[in-house]
This record gives sequence, C-alpha cells and structure tokens, in this order.
Amino acid sequence: MSGQIAKIRRNMERQDQPVQIPIDLKNATPQVCECGCKYFKQIFLVYKVSAFSNPTGKELIAQQPVFLCMECGKMLGEKKI
Ligand SMILES: [Zn+2]
Repeated sequence: MSGQIAKIRRNMERQDQPVQIPIDLKNATPQVCECGCKYFKQIFLVYKVSAFSNPTGKELIAQQPVFLCMECGKMLGEKKI
C-alpha cells in the first residue's frame, strides 16, 4: 500500500517539473514590436469567472499570459477592435 503512495507521489513530482520541449528556433519567427523593440516582459491578464459560466459552479480567477514591449509598453499581438 505504501509503495502505491510512493508511486503516486513520484508521478506528482514529475508533473511539477517544467517540460522541456525541443524547439528549433531557426524556424521560428522572432516577434518584433511596432516600435522595433524585440524584448518583451510577461504579465498576466486576470479574469474573474462567474459561478454561472464555469462547469465547477464556483467563482474562480483565471489568468492569461500576455507580453508587453519593454520599450513602448504595447501588448504583443494586441488586436485593435
Ligand atoms: Zn514597442
């Protein structure tokens, strides 16, 4: 029984480790801001999901990572509506 728990614990620890996905950056397109800056900082947009619009039936906080230009502060990929 304790062996089973140890096995589950090992699996959980494995999930905590960041997954390294091999990406060939030679084929990737560097994102550049309109102002020409190539550097971005990651911030989070935070949403409150009401109890009615999510399956758990509980109010929860959701986050979406976005990137802001280091130079002009504009959001990367921001869509003008
Ligand atoms: Zn910029």
